[in-house]
Amino acid sequence: MPAAALTGEVAQGLESARIRQDFPLLCRGAHAQGLHYLDNAATTQKPQRVMDAIVDGYTQEYGPIHRGLYPLAEAATSRYEQSRATLADFIGAASPDELVFTRSATEAINMVASGWVGPRLRAGDRIWVSRMEHHANYLPWQRICRERGAQLCIIGLTDDGRLDLANTPQLFAPETRLIAVCHVSNVLGIENPIHQLCADAHAHGIAVLVDAAQSVSHQPVDVQAIGCDFLAFSAHKMYGPAGIGLLYGRAERLAEVEPLLLGGGMVDEVGEGMAASRWADLPARLEAGSPNLPGAAGFAAAAGYLDGLDRRRVQRHLADLTRTAAEALGALPGLRLLQPPGASAAILSFTMDGLHPHDLAQVAAEHGVAIRAGHHCAQPLLRSLGLAAVARASFGIYNDVADVEALVQALEDARRLFGQGA
Ligand code: PMP
Repeated sequence: MPAAALTGEVAQGLESARIRQDFPLLCRGAHAQGLHYLDNAATTQKPQRVMDAIVDGYTQEYGPIHRGLYPLAEAATSRYEQSRATLADFIGAASPDELVFTRSATEAINMVASGWVGPRLRAGDRIWVSRMEHHANYLPWQRICRERGAQLCIIGLTDDGRLDLANTPQLFAPETRLIAVCHVSNVLGIENPIHQLCADAHAHGIAVLVDAAQSVSHQPVDVQAIGCDFLAFSAHKMYGPAGIGLLYGRAERLAEVEPLLLGGGMVDEVGEGMAASRWADLPARLEAGSPNLPGAAGFAAAAGYLDGLDRRRVQRHLADLTRTAAEALGALPGLRLLQPPGASAAILSFTMDGLHPHDLAQVAAEHGVAIRAGHHCAQPLLRSLGLAAVARASFGIYNDVADVEALVQALEDARRLFGQGA
């Protein structure tokens, strides 16, 4: 399909052009001119509101958290805890105490591996992950299983890229301790049936961790409706700051997590020598060291920004844009989409016959189109598909049809350039 044939049908829900005005980098940044930023699954740009909250965190309320009695320290503490409460609302948690600030989704998953699974995993037990997991939701389980003599089992995929639950009869066996799956795949753009998976797992007394790194910015995520035990995500993929993430844990599960980091703030009483120490209550117990107030304030501002746009509209906008892009890309000769029909998350991975994905990304870059090429930290998935690398375009709230047109144009040029489009 020629780029010109694309219409402006999408974006009925969101005014992307107006939204772009909220993002300084996209309007006035050194790279703004002609930029089509389509690498949102890697990281997203930040609205001014998030930056303002970070600056306020330093200029208005910066001080030690949970450590001072003077008004500034109390204001800092209050802002930090308000941020936690805003984020608890954002994901529908029963209480802010179910949220632990981490550095990232990666750290959140590692905390569960070392602090909850580690102490209860025995030789012969099983952890299940899916074949589409990001390395962050694969390597921690691989190591803990190796250390404990347990087995890391893989939920395979059907031909159209979905979890092959029908052919995984051992998933709910008595040996299974935890199932760890992504909500949305960072390569296939598929949304997994996590509500049903959690219900089935719980019926068998099995815990579930959901990696929501790729879903929180796309759609409403409600941890109580999902029914998961743990859920992990990062601020930087949902228009928030880099360097901060969250671990959600249902109250009774989180209470069982042993701290990964020990130090200040997470302990009530420290005895001398070998005397046992008494940990603080949650969530402080899992947040050793000085908290990141500006990061938390920026994170909460990002949640507020998304809520202000209406997350259902965001979801519709991204789904429409993805569908439009999938149709346009699918019509290009030699272009193969990895995304199965019907997957509507804002992620499209693809290959083009005769061209290396890095060449595609390079030509796209010359058109101002920022896409990613590589294994996307999902080597088990790519290996199973017989691929070493794929190109990936991923959409955000500020993208519209013009970005898709630029991508299509770039890919057509890449084909011509490499001698296949004459
Ligand atoms: N899971 C998925 C599905 C991801 O896409 C990513 C980031 N690419 C992560 C986990 C890890 O996120 P972070 O690097 O922010 O910890």
